[in-house]
Amino acid sequence: MKHRAIAILEELIGIQSVNPHYGEGAAGEMALSRHLERLCREAGLVVSRQQVFEERDNLIVRLPAPRPGPLLMFEAHMDTVSLGAMPDPLTPIHREGRLYGRGACDTKGSLAAMLAAMETLALQPDTLGCDVMLCATVDEEHAYRGPLKLLELGLPIAAAVVGEPTNLRIVAAHKGCARFAVHVRGKAAHSSVPHEGVNAIVHMSRVIRYLEETVAPELADIRDPLCGPATLSIGTISGGRQINIVPDRCSIEVDRRIVAGEHPGEALAELEARLLAWSRTQGIDLSVEPLLLDWALGTPEDDPLVSAAKRAAGGLGLPEGSRGETYGSNASKYQGIGGIPSIVYGPGSIAQAHAVDEWVPVAEVEAATAFYVALARSFGR
Ligand SMILES: [Zn+2]
Repeated sequence: MKHRAIAILEELIGIQSVNPHYGEGAAGEMALSRHLERLCREAGLVVSRQQVFEERDNLIVRLPAPRPGPLLMFEAHMDTVSLGAMPDPLTPIHREGRLYGRGACDTKGSLAAMLAAMETLALQPDTLGCDVMLCATVDEEHAYRGPLKLLELGLPIAAAVVGEPTNLRIVAAHKGCARFAVHVRGKAAHSSVPHEGVNAIVHMSRVIRYLEETVAPELADIRDPLCGPATLSIGTISGGRQINIVPDRCSIEVDRRIVAGEHPGEALAELEARLLAWSRTQGIDLSVEPLLLDWALGTPEDDPLVSAAKRAAGGLGLPEGSRGETYGSNASKYQGIGGIPSIVYGPGSIAQAHAVDEWVPVAEVEAATAFYVALARSFGR
């Protein structure tokens, strides 16, 4: 017989939920959330909605324990990236133990496993060690407004498990980022008399050397044992208007990855102050523009959530060690902003997320379901 989580996952793949940020034809999360709501009500679960944008709600599903206990949240986002060039993205296709479809891996596989776990737990609530909540959120693939809005409710969440592809590894740490642009101003002049201008591109080349040769090497000292060092990468450059004009503008965009223990806003402010101080000594006119700040995740190894996750995994013969990742997730928002100990756990590999041939191993979805059930029974005891 087909595993319940696989049956749910096939239905979820069939409902397009591309993040509206990806433009025309993107359906958003509403149809998917209505389907989830129907399944939850059929299972006797208590469902409520929280509007984040018009026609885009977080879905909040609750299952109280018979005796009062701490509140454990399972969370997974409902949106996907665009359908892209994937053949039959909305048709669940089974091949060699894999289930293909847009969102199969990122992150409908986790969502289906969490919902199947909630259904199982709802049948035997007396086995619960804690109150359990499943939150299906919107807008992870763009600006993570869903989790931020959820935090505004101020729910007494004791711990959070975020469903993203980790190949069934307990991820207790991942990097965050402080992205920013650097704008250098020069003075335009005709290229036949370049000495009458100030070349913004040439000045920017010195900024780049400073970042690469002085700032970046020092970041190697800021290390997380699970995730490795903080890093810096210059991703874009633009400047100049035409060949016969000395450029008066040049800009770069920089992705500074932060590790647990660093605050994204403080990391950016520190780097900005440093760049401004250095540029004054160099006679370079520059400004820094913040682009995106995202928290790093760093839940301690001895946190009750990590311990309960290890117990649950060990009891099922699944990997018990915790691991760090370089990619981000909603978990760092719950921990960084909400102060909620969080881990990331789910079926599939990040390598298949967003890919043209997105798939998830069927066996991992089934195992993840068992893990979520076991964790809800183990946490709070
Ligand atoms: Zn995801």
